[in-house]
Parts: sequence; structure tokens; C-alpha cells
Amino acid sequence: MTAPQKVQYSPTTTSDICTICGAQLTRRAGPGRPRVVCSRQCAEENSRRRASLWRSNPPKVRLCEVCASELPHSRGCSRFCSTSCRRTAVNVRRQTRRYAASEMPRNAP
Ligand SMILES: [Zn+2]
Ligand SMILES: [Zn+2]
Repeated sequence: MTAPQKVQYSPTTTSDICTICGAQLTRRAGPGRPRVVCSRQCAEENSRRRASLWRSNPPKVRLCEVCASELPHSRGCSRFCSTSCRRTAVNVRRQTRRYAASEMPRNAP
């Protein structure tokens, strides 16, 4: 039986190779985030990949378009956290539209 080759990871470091091209990373001494890419090019590629990943699989948390507070997951299709925020958004949209349409006098409801 051939045992699979085990790579020894030290518990304190995550990885010492570039996540993009796999090149060996030189470990930076001192505090701070550990490096995950070897160069600026790879860093750009990394952020690009992350962005596309985010686009294809956006986080489950949605934010209210008015106050930017987190929306509960149960309200999957709503874009606002509350009725007041939704009303605010509708009002703003209405006002801007009205404003754009040759500044018509506002009719009181
Ligand atoms: Zn790299
Ligand atoms: Zn809100």
C-alpha cells in the first residue's frame, strides 16, 4: 500500500506558496497579514478572481439600498430593511424623476 505524500504544514502559517502561480513565497517577518501571492501581478489576478467569484456567487447577505443595514435572509427579494426605507427610496426616485421631467410642480397627495 502506498501512502499518499503528506505535506507538512506548520500550524501557525497557512501557506508559503502563491495562490495564483504557486511560486514559493518569502515569508515576511513581523506582524500583519501573511502573504498569499508572490507579486503585484499575482495580487491583481487574485483580486480579479475574487471579484469574479463574488459576482458569480455573491454573499448571502443583502444590504438595504437606503440605510445599508443587513437584510434578513428571509426577505430574499426585498431591497430594503423596512417599509420606511422602501418608502424613502420610492420618494427619492419619484422626486428625481419628477425633477428630471422639467420640474413639474409637486402635487400633494
Ligand atoms: Zn504568483
Ligand atoms: Zn434600511
